[in-house]
Amino acid sequence: METSSVYCPGCNHKVRLTMTKEHRSGHASLPDGGEVVCLDFGEGCSEGTCPLTGRPGMVMGVRLAKSDLPHESKTLTAHCEACGNVAEMEILDRTHAVCSLCGSTTEYTVVPIDATHAITVTRSP
Ligand SMILES: [Zn+2]
Repeated sequence: METSSVYCPGCNHKVRLTMTKEHRSGHASLPDGGEVVCLDFGEGCSEGTCPLTGRPGMVMGVRLAKSDLPHESKTLTAHCEACGNVAEMEILDRTHAVCSLCGSTTEYTVVPIDATHAITVTRSP
């Protein structure tokens, strides 16, 4: 995997950028993949716009979560409203997670039950 180290003015430190592989679909005119992915996407990046790509920060988080690229991620297990399965989800920020089974972005809320237990409730945006 080829990565380039670039200074990110949003994060105030160097981040690693890479490109997703272009995977061919039936429509040659609609290229899929070949997008810039930031391997150092952090929790604060989901707010506002990514200064390196000009895309909403949330888009960058979804790209990284959907890619098979090695990266640090936090996950939760919750019922996915989109595919109906109890699935592992990659946390993007305090309210958004990506389902590992169907790739949908869902909003989640952690509901405390008592001092030590909580359940995660999701809904499709
Ligand atoms: Zn799902």
